[in-house]
Amino acid sequence: MLSVKLIDLINEAYKTADEHGWHSINRTFGDLIALCHGELSEALEEYRDGGLNKDNLIYYKNDKEGNIKPEGVAVEIADLLIRVFDLCKDMDIPIIDALKIKMEYNKLRPYLHGGKKI
Ligand SMILES: [Mg+2]
Repeated sequence: MLSVKLIDLINEAYKTADEHGWHSINRTFGDLIALCHGELSEALEEYRDGGLNKDNLIYYKNDKEGNIKPEGVAVEIADLLIRVFDLCKDMDIPIIDALKIKMEYNKLRPYLHGGKKI
């Protein structure tokens, strides 16, 4: 079973973005949130194309540079997490603490809290 520490993934996402110049340009919090929305939209488009079939979760295509690029629903969700990790480290947002706090709080909430349909 794959075992990784969340802090290591956060640091790696930040480092890769930094090495590729994304921290050298002015990006607002709103810009970064919009990019997260973009990854969710890409995940939805992948789903619209092939659903959650195993072959549509992770598949490979050649990119413009001739590299083999992973695509698919799972990959777009991974892109979202990568963006969230980079955003949080870049803006000193304590995401690991917030995750622990919110997950504990969610355990206290009533069954189907809020009365929503979904
Ligand atoms: Mg993407």
